[in-house]
Amino acid sequence: MRLPPDMPERRPETDLMHHGEDRARYHGAVVPPLFQNSLFTFEDWDAIDAAFDDRTGAYLYSRLGNPTVRLAEEKLARLAGGGRARLFGSGMAAISAAILSSVDAGDHVVAVRTIYGPANNLLNVYLARKMGVTTTFVSGEDPAEVEAAITDRTRLIYLESPSSAVFALQDLAAVAEIARARGIRTVIDNTWATPLFQQPLALGIDLEVHSCSKYLGGHSDLLGGAVIGTTAAMDALAVAEGELLGGTMAPFEAWLLIRSLRTLPVRMRQHEANAIQVARFLESHLGVHRVFYPGLESHPQHALARKQMSGTTGLMGFELATDDLGAIKWFVDGLRVFQLGVSWGGHESLVYAPAISYLKELPPERFAALGIAAGTMRISVGLEHAHDLVADLGQALDGMEA
Ligand SMILES: *Cc1c(COP(=O)(O)O)cnc(C)c1O
Repeated sequence: MRLPPDMPERRPETDLMHHGEDRARYHGAVVPPLFQNSLFTFEDWDAIDAAFDDRTGAYLYSRLGNPTVRLAEEKLARLAGGGRARLFGSGMAAISAAILSSVDAGDHVVAVRTIYGPANNLLNVYLARKMGVTTTFVSGEDPAEVEAAITDRTRLIYLESPSSAVFALQDLAAVAEIARARGIRTVIDNTWATPLFQQPLALGIDLEVHSCSKYLGGHSDLLGGAVIGTTAAMDALAVAEGELLGGTMAPFEAWLLIRSLRTLPVRMRQHEANAIQVARFLESHLGVHRVFYPGLESHPQHALARKQMSGTTGLMGFELATDDLGAIKWFVDGLRVFQLGVSWGGHESLVYAPAISYLKELPPERFAALGIAAGTMRISVGLEHAHDLVADLGQALDGMEA
């Protein structure tokens, strides 16, 4: 198939397969080649001299750029509606690059309290100690609360919507407007929704960050991170945090990611369909106190979820109707299809109880302030048949009661 490169009405399903591919250069190979090389060679002095002048375009050295990595970046930028994307070796490498490109020593940040734990620690502990960066944490549910936290030193508003712990949302257009009026940079962790179901850049957010280790990778076989934004912001980030911190994605990971992106739309629609069945079942079960899932009508921000996302994905939380640790362990150990492990967004269904790690790391008051109890479960609804997933949760809940 030969697609004109500028067909304006192309949909993501088509773009993720064909955008950026140049098969005529690869002997017509239907899968793009893996450029597994660290450096690039040149005919003569003038050629390498010109490459140094085109730092973000030419290929010199794979930490700075590699054709396989670039192809994955072009597909992601196109999907998210951004000028440019840059891939990193993990989600945290992408997050730290995005934050460091937005703040200087002594600056102030407003961040959502329920963001990914290591991102919270990066701001609250690491950057506070190393660079005197101060952070005010807010629930993020009311834009006025974000606005009230801004000081004259605020340079960054850091969001995660929905947050992957308690699935709280921020009104992205409203927060972007507040920030733009004051020249403050906005960054969102968009890992949960993916750019397929939520397009923050179109709502006025400056940069979006992702862990590609979740849905974008989708097969639990790669680690990666992405930052996506305007060409100007991304070029600045590429020559500073990209080059100097050097947390670049390796070519083989990018090659796997290109494989994953082809099936992103079909996977996400199935994750969503399975998840809604699982969420409705959990909500109806007496062994479950409450369910945290933006796709349910009972979610307190369901209307906002419908307004700013075009779909919901497979990660959700719920609270068992008991705080008896013995019963809670019985439930987790009783699951047969859901496997026990951290992370999420792969083909396989997973269960994890945040209490397992939080009980070791946090004092009980902070734990409760995050809205998490001993019986809080997080499940990643995978691509097994929804019937089997519901049956598995049902037998483990019933076993717990017996
Ligand atoms: C996993 C995760 C990250 C970090 O990604 P890594 O690839 O593990 O570094 C960041 N944000 C969210 C919401 C995550 O779930």
